[in-house]
Amino acid sequence: AAARAALESLVVDVPDFPEPGIVFKDITPLLADHTAFTAVITALAAVGRDESGAPVVDKVVGMEARGFILAAPVALALGTGFVPVRKAGKLPRGTHAVSYALEYGEATLELHRDAIAPGDRVLMVDDVLATGGTARATRELIESCGGTAHGLAVLMELGVLAGRDAIGDLPVATLMTV
Ligand code: 5GP
Repeated sequence: AAARAALESLVVDVPDFPEPGIVFKDITPLLADHTAFTAVITALAAVGRDESGAPVVDKVVGMEARGFILAAPVALALGTGFVPVRKAGKLPRGTHAVSYALEYGEATLELHRDAIAPGDRVLMVDDVLATGGTARATRELIESCGGTAHGLAVLMELGVLAGRDAIGDLPVATLMTV
């Protein structure tokens, strides 16, 4: 509980960012704190291990952009490679693409077709789970490659938005619920 309070104190609420009425969760103070950052990476990586501590995933996927910062060290901790899911038009080779509705408009995410092999078990890592749209699209991309989503590990879940319901039957591990 003390560790959790310490983590929570390093995530700063920023009112009216990026637009009026939104309270943005700024995780940069947490990333700047070595002890907290280490604890977070260890906890997120645990989602990709079995009870004995052995890694059970083949790849770790991070979602642009803050997901990259967390997913890359999680991949190294688990002894796997890291794979980026990016916004449309950023990946240079052949991709799968999934579009999904935002509150206003639409977003498209892409994954290199050859980044996940058929049968790969994949851990998804992001900073925040809100509506679940990003996580659901990422799951679809993994499945388009023939991979299986093992679970989703996030730093923070914005509980009221029920993002879990959007992503279907998938283990979700969160270090903080706000
Ligand atoms: P969702 O697709 O679940 O609605 O939104 C989650 C995505 O939006 C994540 O990739 C996350 O980085 C970003 N996001 C949404 N709200 C916040 C926030 O308050 N703070 C941060 N750091 N990211 C957010």
